Amino acid sequence: MNDFDIIIVGGGIAGASLGAEVAAKRRTLIVEAEDQCGFHSTGRSAAFYLESYGGPAIAELTIASGPFLERPPSDFSERGFLFRRGGLSLSDGPWPEVPDRVVALRIEREALELMVPGLRPRWTRALFEPGCADIDVAALHGAFLGQFRRAGGTVATDSRLEQASWSDGAWSVSLAGSSNLRAAMLVDAAGAWGDEVAVRCDVAPLGLEPKRRTMVQLRVGRSGLKGLPLVNDAGGTFYFKGEGDRTLWLSPHDEIPSAPGDVAPEEIDIAIAIARFQEVVDWPVEQVERSWAGLRTFAPDRLPVYGFDPAMPQFFWCVGQGGFGIQTSPAAGRLAASLLLGQPPDPTVAHIGLGAFSPARFRR
Ligand SMILES: Cc1cc2nc3c(=O)[nH]c(=O)nc-3n(C[C@H](O)[C@H](O)[C@H](O)COP(=O)(O)OP(=O)(O)OC[C@H]3O[C@@H](n4cnc5c(N)ncnc54)[C@H](O)[C@@H]3O)c2cc1C
Repeated sequence: MNDFDIIIVGGGIAGASLGAEVAAKRRTLIVEAEDQCGFHSTGRSAAFYLESYGGPAIAELTIASGPFLERPPSDFSERGFLFRRGGLSLSDGPWPEVPDRVVALRIEREALELMVPGLRPRWTRALFEPGCADIDVAALHGAFLGQFRRAGGTVATDSRLEQASWSDGAWSVSLAGSSNLRAAMLVDAAGAWGDEVAVRCDVAPLGLEPKRRTMVQLRVGRSGLKGLPLVNDAGGTFYFKGEGDRTLWLSPHDEIPSAPGDVAPEEIDIAIAIARFQEVVDWPVEQVERSWAGLRTFAPDRLPVYGFDPAMPQFFWCVGQGGFGIQTSPAAGRLAASLLLGQPPDPTVAHIGLGAFSPARFRR
């Protein structure tokens, strides 16, 4: 007799959103190596929802997640997770492009100056996405874990998967500091450790690439920032958004290949962020209040991976969430759950083609 039907490795937003969908139907355990589930990427994000981000295939997942994030079912959360601010994609050349289904308005320089006072002359136009919003990531992640537990799921923190082997029709899973468990299926939702976990389970890695991203909280000599749109550039070299009246979150949009781990920001990336920021607006930089970094993990084609491994059909991949794992989590959790359980997808995601996300694309 197995201890669990499903063991999910990793308690970040990927494992939690999938777990929330399956716990009522299968005995499910989430194992998390750290003492809290949001310690790595999920707890370090820039916390925005931007439908154009990541290209057309990701936009489908994001747009399908929007209504849930905006108005979740009342038994999931009493309030929504999105706080609209709009997003501006600045250009010093042609109009930026957005995927077909994304609503975006063209803004010429004159109007742009009113939206971003102090904008340097170089930026001549922008696309405005009215749907861009902040996400309350901690509340969303907590709500997924809450639904998971209410449906009967178990979360074990401080429980690193060390090794797992498939024999006699079940996984035998060894966790740090505890006895072995048996489960019918294993889900790899280990973020930056996705390939490492696969190897510990005798499954070939996919070639996942964790990349470090830096965030800086700046105080500047200008007030009224909190309600400003998210500002990025079409070339992908920075983004910033107001945090307090005179503070903002800024990123140099870096993607530094890194080993999985508890990454920290480098001085050089903070300096690059500030230098790029100063080319966007004339707001005096007063102080770096804090900085942090996290890993965004990509499959080789930068699309997420949901599905059973073709060579090990009881090993399920739920990895490669890159820089969009929070904003896509409701749709991703539902799609992955339908594949894992072999059931028809929820109507809210039934239109989304799954071929692009299958691990089979890396096994040909
Ligand atoms: C700076 C930054 C900004 C971002 N901004 C945004 C944004 O604005 N919007 C957005 O949608 N996304 C954003 N992202 C991306 C988003 O944060 C990620 O896509 C998402 O958090 C990935 O979730 P995850 O559950 O896959 O990974 P994680 O949250 O890293 O969870 C994986 C978990 O697996 C655990 N684990 C690893 N190995 C083992 C093991 N052997 N046993 C047990 N547990 C294990 C880890 O401890 C970890 O907690 C950003 C990311 C960063 C770093």
